[in-house]
Amino acid sequence: RGDPRLQGISKAIRVVPDFPIPGIMFQDITTLLLDHKAFKDTVDIFVDRYRDMGISVVAANVNVGIEARGFVFGPSIALAIGAKFVPLRKPNKLPGEVISEAYVLEYGTDRLEMHVGAIEPGERALVIDDLVATGGTLSAAVRLLERMGAEVVECACVVGLPEGQRRLDGKPLYILVEPR
Ligand code: AMP
Repeated sequence: RGDPRLQGISKAIRVVPDFPIPGIMFQDITTLLLDHKAFKDTVDIFVDRYRDMGISVVAANVNVGIEARGFVFGPSIALAIGAKFVPLRKPNKLPGEVISEAYVLEYGTDRLEMHVGAIEPGERALVIDDLVATGGTLSAAVRLLERMGAEVVECACVVGLPEGQRRLDGKPLYILVEPR
Protein backbone atom coordinates (compact mmCIF):
# COMPACT_ATOMS: atom_id res chain seq x y z
CA ARG A 1 0.00 0.00 0.00
CA GLY A 2 1.20 3.49 -0.78
CA ASP A 3 3.51 2.08 -3.48
CA PRO A 4 3.26 4.57 -6.38
CA ARG A 5 3.38 1.67 -8.88
CA LEU A 6 0.00 0.36 -7.70
CA GLN A 7 -1.97 3.22 -9.28
CA GLY A 8 -0.49 2.45 -12.71
CA ILE A 9 -1.29 -1.24 -12.26
CA SER A 10 -4.87 -0.48 -11.27
CA LYS A 11 -5.38 1.89 -14.21
CA ALA A 12 -4.03 -0.66 -16.68
CA ILE A 13 -6.74 -3.23 -15.80
CA ARG A 14 -9.82 -2.88 -18.02
CA VAL A 15 -13.23 -3.41 -16.42
CA VAL A 16 -15.74 -5.14 -18.73
CA PRO A 17 -19.31 -5.00 -17.33
CA ASP A 18 -21.58 -8.05 -17.72
CA PHE A 19 -18.86 -10.46 -18.87
CA PRO A 20 -19.06 -13.44 -19.11
CA ILE A 21 -22.60 -13.18 -17.70
CA PRO A 22 -24.82 -10.24 -16.60
CA GLY A 23 -23.87 -8.75 -13.23
CA ILE A 24 -20.15 -9.59 -13.35
CA MET A 25 -17.71 -6.67 -13.51
CA PHE A 26 -14.95 -8.57 -15.27
CA GLN A 27 -11.43 -7.41 -14.35
CA ASP A 28 -9.55 -7.87 -17.62
CA ILE A 29 -5.81 -8.16 -17.04
CA THR A 30 -5.00 -8.56 -20.76
CA THR A 31 -4.79 -4.74 -20.95
CA LEU A 32 -2.27 -4.79 -18.08
CA LEU A 33 -0.10 -7.06 -20.26
CA LEU A 34 -0.17 -4.45 -23.05
CA ASP A 35 1.43 -1.90 -20.71
CA HIS A 36 5.06 -2.94 -20.27
CA LYS A 37 5.68 -0.81 -17.19
CA ALA A 38 2.52 -1.95 -15.39
CA PHE A 39 3.16 -5.62 -16.29
CA LYS A 40 6.78 -5.44 -15.12
CA ASP A 41 5.85 -3.53 -11.95
CA THR A 42 3.31 -6.26 -11.09
CA VAL A 43 5.85 -9.06 -11.43
CA ASP A 44 8.57 -7.01 -9.66
CA ILE A 45 6.38 -6.35 -6.61
CA PHE A 46 5.63 -10.06 -6.20
CA VAL A 47 9.25 -11.03 -6.82
CA ASP A 48 10.55 -8.52 -4.24
CA ARG A 49 8.09 -9.86 -1.69
CA TYR A 50 8.73 -13.59 -2.25
CA ARG A 51 12.40 -13.72 -3.24
CA ASP A 52 13.81 -14.43 0.24
CA MET A 53 10.99 -16.49 1.73
CA GLY A 54 12.43 -19.92 0.93
CA ILE A 55 9.70 -20.67 -1.59
CA SER A 56 10.47 -23.57 -3.95
CA VAL A 57 7.05 -23.90 -5.64
CA VAL A 58 4.85 -21.35 -7.39
CA ALA A 59 1.46 -22.84 -8.27
CA ALA A 60 -1.12 -21.13 -10.43
CA ASN A 61 -4.59 -21.84 -11.69
CA VAL A 62 -4.28 -22.19 -15.43
CA ASN A 63 -7.87 -21.57 -16.41
CA VAL A 64 -8.16 -22.42 -20.07
CA GLY A 65 -11.88 -21.68 -20.23
CA ILE A 66 -11.72 -17.94 -20.87
CA GLU A 67 -8.03 -17.09 -20.74
CA ALA A 68 -4.98 -18.86 -19.36
CA ARG A 69 -4.46 -16.13 -16.83
CA GLY A 70 -2.53 -18.06 -14.23
CA PHE A 71 0.19 -18.66 -16.83
CA VAL A 72 0.77 -14.93 -17.12
CA PHE A 73 2.28 -14.17 -13.72
CA GLY A 74 3.16 -17.53 -12.16
CA PRO A 75 6.09 -18.67 -14.34
CA SER A 76 7.71 -15.21 -14.41
CA ILE A 77 7.67 -15.06 -10.63
CA ALA A 78 8.87 -18.66 -10.30
CA LEU A 79 11.88 -18.09 -12.58
CA ALA A 80 12.84 -14.88 -10.79
CA ILE A 81 12.71 -16.34 -7.28
CA GLY A 82 14.35 -19.67 -8.18
CA ALA A 83 11.25 -21.82 -7.74
CA LYS A 84 9.53 -24.41 -9.89
CA PHE A 85 6.16 -23.74 -11.50
CA VAL A 86 3.23 -26.12 -11.04
CA PRO A 87 0.11 -25.66 -13.19
CA LEU A 88 -3.30 -26.34 -11.65
CA ARG A 89 -5.70 -27.23 -14.44
CA LYS A 90 -9.31 -27.86 -15.32
CA PRO A 91 -10.32 -31.56 -15.35
CA ASN A 92 -8.82 -33.92 -17.95
CA LYS A 93 -6.12 -31.53 -19.22
CA LEU A 94 -3.10 -32.98 -17.42
CA PRO A 95 -1.80 -36.23 -18.98
CA GLY A 96 -0.21 -37.80 -15.89
CA GLU A 97 -1.70 -39.13 -12.66
CA VAL A 98 -3.61 -36.33 -10.89
CA ILE A 99 -5.33 -35.44 -7.64
CA SER A 100 -8.36 -33.18 -7.86
CA GLU A 101 -10.42 -30.78 -5.73
CA ALA A 102 -13.91 -29.38 -6.41
CA TYR A 103 -14.66 -25.70 -5.87
CA VAL A 104 -17.41 -23.11 -6.33
CA LEU A 105 -16.76 -20.13 -8.63
CA GLU A 106 -18.39 -16.72 -8.70
CA TYR A 107 -19.96 -17.92 -11.96
CA GLY A 108 -20.26 -21.72 -11.85
CA THR A 109 -18.59 -24.72 -10.23
CA ASP A 110 -15.49 -26.59 -11.29
CA ARG A 111 -12.58 -28.80 -10.33
CA LEU A 112 -8.84 -28.20 -10.22
CA GLU A 113 -6.29 -30.92 -10.89
CA MET A 114 -2.58 -31.21 -10.14
CA HIS A 115 0.00 -33.79 -11.18
CA VAL A 116 0.98 -36.29 -8.51
CA GLY A 117 4.75 -36.06 -8.00
CA ALA A 118 5.03 -32.36 -8.92
CA ILE A 119 5.77 -31.48 -5.30
CA GLU A 120 7.83 -33.09 -2.55
CA PRO A 121 6.42 -33.15 1.01
CA GLY A 122 7.64 -30.17 3.02
CA GLU A 123 8.15 -27.83 0.07
CA ARG A 124 7.18 -24.20 0.65
CA ALA A 125 4.62 -23.00 -1.88
CA LEU A 126 3.13 -19.74 -3.13
CA VAL A 127 -0.26 -19.83 -4.87
CA ILE A 128 -0.83 -17.08 -7.42
CA ASP A 129 -3.89 -16.01 -9.41
CA ASP A 130 -4.99 -12.88 -11.24
CA LEU A 131 -8.03 -12.26 -9.06
CA VAL A 132 -9.70 -13.43 -5.86
CA ALA A 133 -13.48 -13.13 -5.47
CA THR A 134 -14.95 -15.64 -3.02
CA GLY A 135 -11.62 -17.38 -2.49
CA GLY A 136 -13.07 -20.69 -3.65
CA THR A 137 -10.47 -21.22 -6.37
CA LEU A 138 -7.54 -20.32 -4.13
CA SER A 139 -8.73 -22.57 -1.34
CA ALA A 140 -9.04 -25.51 -3.77
CA ALA A 141 -5.45 -24.81 -4.83
CA VAL A 142 -4.34 -24.70 -1.19
CA ARG A 143 -6.05 -28.05 -0.49
CA LEU A 144 -4.34 -29.66 -3.49
CA LEU A 145 -0.90 -28.47 -2.37
CA GLU A 146 -1.46 -29.44 1.26
CA ARG A 147 -2.66 -32.92 0.25
CA MET A 148 0.74 -33.36 -1.41
CA GLY A 149 2.45 -32.30 1.82
CA ALA A 150 3.44 -28.77 0.78
CA GLU A 151 3.35 -25.85 3.18
CA VAL A 152 1.42 -22.96 1.57
CA VAL A 153 3.23 -19.82 2.69
CA GLU A 154 0.84 -17.33 1.10
CA CYS A 155 -1.70 -16.78 -1.66
CA ALA A 156 -1.16 -13.74 -3.91
CA CYS A 157 -3.46 -12.00 -6.40
CA VAL A 158 -3.23 -8.92 -8.58
CA VAL A 159 -6.85 -7.92 -7.91
CA GLY A 160 -8.93 -8.60 -4.79
CA LEU A 161 -12.69 -8.17 -4.86
CA PRO A 162 -13.97 -6.90 -1.48
CA GLU A 163 -15.83 -10.14 -0.70
CA GLY A 164 -12.70 -12.20 -1.32
CA GLN A 165 -10.35 -13.49 1.36
CA ARG A 166 -13.10 -15.55 2.98
CA ARG A 167 -12.61 -19.20 2.19
CA LEU A 168 -8.89 -19.26 2.78
CA ASP A 169 -9.08 -20.66 6.32
CA GLY A 170 -6.69 -18.07 7.70
CA LYS A 171 -4.10 -18.58 4.95
CA PRO A 172 -2.36 -15.22 4.37
CA LEU A 173 -3.54 -13.41 1.24
CA TYR A 174 -1.55 -10.66 -0.50
CA ILE A 175 -3.42 -8.39 -2.92
CA LEU A 176 -2.01 -5.59 -5.07
CA VAL A 177 -5.11 -3.58 -6.04
CA GLU A 178 -8.85 -3.32 -5.46
CA PRO A 179 -11.19 -3.51 -8.47
CA ARG A 180 -12.03 -0.20 -10.16
P1 AMP B 1 -13.16 -17.09 -6.68
O1 AMP B 1 -12.91 -18.56 -6.71
O2 AMP B 1 -14.60 -16.77 -6.37
O3 AMP B 1 -12.22 -16.36 -5.74
O4 AMP B 1 -12.95 -16.54 -8.16
C1 AMP B 1 -11.68 -16.28 -8.64
C2 AMP B 1 -11.47 -16.89 -10.01
O5 AMP B 1 -12.52 -16.55 -10.92
C3 AMP B 1 -10.20 -16.39 -10.61
O6 AMP B 1 -9.56 -17.48 -11.29
C4 AMP B 1 -10.63 -15.31 -11.57
O7 AMP B 1 -9.84 -15.37 -12.73
C5 AMP B 1 -12.09 -15.59 -11.87
N1 AMP B 1 -12.96 -14.41 -11.66
C6 AMP B 1 -13.98 -14.36 -10.76
N2 AMP B 1 -14.60 -13.16 -10.78
C7 AMP B 1 -13.96 -12.42 -11.69
C8 AMP B 1 -14.09 -11.06 -12.14
N3 AMP B 1 -15.02 -10.22 -11.66
N4 AMP B 1 -13.21 -10.62 -13.07
C9 AMP B 1 -12.24 -11.45 -13.54
N5 AMP B 1 -12.07 -12.72 -13.16
C10 AMP B 1 -12.91 -13.23 -12.25
